[in-house]
Amino acid sequence: MYLSIVVPCMNEEDGIDALVTRLSLITAKWKQQAEIILVDDGSSDGTWREIEAACKTSAQVVGIKLSANRGHQIALTAGLKAAKGERIMMIDADLQDPPELMTDMMFMMDRGFDVVYGRRIERQGETIFKRATAHLFYRVLNALSDISIPRDTGDFRLVNRKTLDAVLEMPERARFIRGMFAWAGFKQVGIEYVRAPRETGETKYPLRKMIRFSIDAMTAFSTKPLKLATRLSFVSLFIAALMAVYVFRSLILFQTAPGWASVVLAVAFFSGVQLLTLGILGEYVGRLYIEAKKRPLYFVSEELRSNAPIAAKLTA
Ligand code: UDP
Ligand code: MG
Repeated sequence: MYLSIVVPCMNEEDGIDALVTRLSLITAKWKQQAEIILVDDGSSDGTWREIEAACKTSAQVVGIKLSANRGHQIALTAGLKAAKGERIMMIDADLQDPPELMTDMMFMMDRGFDVVYGRRIERQGETIFKRATAHLFYRVLNALSDISIPRDTGDFRLVNRKTLDAVLEMPERARFIRGMFAWAGFKQVGIEYVRAPRETGETKYPLRKMIRFSIDAMTAFSTKPLKLATRLSFVSLFIAALMAVYVFRSLILFQTAPGWASVVLAVAFFSGVQLLTLGILGEYVGRLYIEAKKRPLYFVSEELRSNAPIAAKLTA
């Protein structure tokens, strides 16, 4: 079985050597044909030089250099497109995720799963802030989106050819790859592991990128924020109705300042109407957005065909 390992690398010059050595050990153990695809995502250090060196020493290594920094998810996509394997593994260059877990992943795939992802039960060497925000991110994302995206996972996963082809059919630009694999819908399973600290270098996800990444993810898998105005408008109109009762009661029972009743009612009612019309716009914009993505409507998981001639089937 042909295996592809795809690794996006940005400014990882100190880690490439160790990475290739460790991955080669695993592919050697598996005695399978394999390729290790290293994608240089517009690095400004010597990452590409290291990749070139690795290509010279190991026949398994394939180097792909992007013209500029396009971000982790696009770099990963470039590697996935180039992959030729029947099974494809995705892993970060910093060896925070143990590639040795692949043995278990392959085992699960042999048992019929299409996607085996790693689930972090512990993150070592990461700040409390990063852990807390990541924790929150997966919970909010799941509350917002219509599909279930596995929590506390990264892009560390093994997928088969069928699932990869499905995901590659999705042409969208804002790519949240772990969500796209979940959305594709094939048989998935998680394996728990402890995430180690980075071997070399430092994180390429500063707060700014993390925020952009989460907004990409939430908008890619949910139009609920757009529809928020509709919900608020119902609340607002309900409050306006309650206020109308109160205002008329005050008008009849007490002396009120002239003009008070009409102003209060107008403000309450028209804020409700405004939110409602905004919400209606949101509903349309949301649908336009989904349509504009041009995602495939469905993927076929298996296909069974009977070889019997049609006439025989009819009489059976
Ligand atoms: N990465 C990339 N392009 C980027 C940012 C990151 O290719 O613009 C790669 C990086 O080299 C690493 C992986 O994506 O292999 C994950 O990044 P990192 O380890 O910094 O993220 P963290 O583990 O801190 O969330
Ligand atoms: Mg990392």
